[in-house]
Amino acid sequence: MKVSITSKDALILVDIQNDFCVGSLAVPNACDIIKYANSYIEIFKKNIRPIFATRDWHPKNHSSFKEFGGIWPIHCIQNTDGSMFYKDLRLPNDTLIISKGTNPDKDAYSGFDGTDLHDKLKNLNINRLFIGGLATDYCVKATILDALALDYTTFFLSDASKAVNLKPDDEALSINEMLKAGAILIDLNDLIQ
Ligand SMILES: [Zn+2]
Repeated sequence: MKVSITSKDALILVDIQNDFCVGSLAVPNACDIIKYANSYIEIFKKNIRPIFATRDWHPKNHSSFKEFGGIWPIHCIQNTDGSMFYKDLRLPNDTLIISKGTNPDKDAYSGFDGTDLHDKLKNLNINRLFIGGLATDYCVKATILDALALDYTTFFLSDASKAVNLKPDDEALSINEMLKAGAILIDLNDLIQ
């Protein structure tokens, strides 16, 4: 399919941070998405559309960490190298940054969970979202399902996303779930630039 960028569109890049690319919770082949993510950034910049970047932004004692009862290794602790956006990701200076997972007692996979992302999008009159990042089977999926529930037309950027795949089918299952909920799968070739 071919999609043109409109005045109601925004790009949301999910959790493209050091720990998810090369750090303590590195997603397999995460670095492969960077060139695609940068291309989407360029297109949205050229069209003067807002660019959002979500980030996991955990306190040291976050409940998602194994030692505090969660399932994940320690990752993305606020203001550490691991929580910085990956060095090769070319985010513009006016990127709107959404921090999530800041409450020690609660995990937040979705960029909408406990954040002002929806308010910011409303204020900008956005009704279509282009979402990709890390990881397909967790935070990308959760963000896309919330976006659809909030009635945004939502595109899943398949080439700018990678899955953790704790189980080998997780990526396929999560993509099916997103498509069933109404997401539209595209890649860079589908965007009219
Ligand atoms: Zn986390």
